[in-house]
Amino acid sequence: MIALEEQQEDEIRRQGEAEYPHECCGLLIGRFVEDGRKQIAEVYPVSNAREEEAKHNRSLIMPEEYMRGERYARGRGLEVVGNYHSHPDHEAVPSQFDLDHAWPIWSYIIVSVRDGRAGDLRSWEMEANRSRFDEEEITRGS
Ligand SMILES: [Zn+2]
Repeated sequence: MIALEEQQEDEIRRQGEAEYPHECCGLLIGRFVEDGRKQIAEVYPVSNAREEEAKHNRSLIMPEEYMRGERYARGRGLEVVGNYHSHPDHEAVPSQFDLDHAWPIWSYIIVSVRDGRAGDLRSWEMEANRSRFDEEEITRGS
């Protein structure tokens, strides 16, 4: 379960629309609370590191960008608890590429952007054995 404010969700949608037809990506900054739940404090946009021609359907965060986000989070007494990205003209469902590059415990928020407009926004968590993602519930507030 992941707690996300409406304003943060809007930011992800807006970024997905702004980057369309490319993927947007960023980090979810917040805290892990009891029972593996996550509380998002801020969304932290990062640039898509993939080659221009590959940007369309794969996003990857560069280690330097990740380290910068991690330092930013720690400076506020927070942690990186996940990642978000858009799927231009595709469903808000993780791809095989997403699974191959996922980290356990993190949340993966995906927003579907069709014809430049953000639609479905869903959150996913990988199974510990890396076999697949399970959808997780998005709640408001704490
Ligand atoms: Zn993806």
